[in-house]
Amino acid sequence: AAQKLIKKLEETIENIPDFPIPGIQFKDISPIFLNPGLYEEVIADLVNFSKGKVDAVCGIESRGYLFGIAIAVALEVPFILIRKAGKLPPPVISEKYDLEYGSAIIETREGQIKPGERILIHDDLLATGGTTEAAAKLVEKQGATVAQFSFLIGLKDLNGKEKLDKFNAEVYHILE
Ligand code: AMP
Repeated sequence: AAQKLIKKLEETIENIPDFPIPGIQFKDISPIFLNPGLYEEVIADLVNFSKGKVDAVCGIESRGYLFGIAIAVALEVPFILIRKAGKLPPPVISEKYDLEYGSAIIETREGQIKPGERILIHDDLLATGGTTEAAAKLVEKQGATVAQFSFLIGLKDLNGKEKLDKFNAEVYHILE
């Protein structure tokens, strides 16, 4: 991304210490939506990464929707919701994954991702990569391929990117 955009985002995204639990620095992206021009620049940057390379976009609940749907509309491709368990009506495809303590399940409506499609998986932030990895497995279960991952922020030091290596997809984030 252009250095100008990186700088503007660094000035806009708020770092909240010890939220939601001690030791976590929470990245609050909500101030981006107070600035429509900046939002448009973010979308243009993410669209530029994916243009001509994907057949559909999967967004991860819930902040992945805030950018994912705009990316899909600009690319003129379908947008598919990946949600936490129990929110989408049947039939759904599910994928269970481990959290630091316990586990979680994410789901997508069966049949919305088509076999053979090249998919972009988008979320606001890559941390440990657990959520994104589960989303990628959901995509593969539907016979599609993960072509790309994109994020606003890819946190270093949590080895999230290593979890995504096995999908042989392009990985992009605007900020670290
Ligand atoms: P992970 O599965 O560890 O990569 O976590 C990714 C999900 O958790 C994303 O959907 C993020 O929105 C959220 N998340 C994780 N860490 C943070 C953080 N430091 N600040 C804001 N959101 C976070």
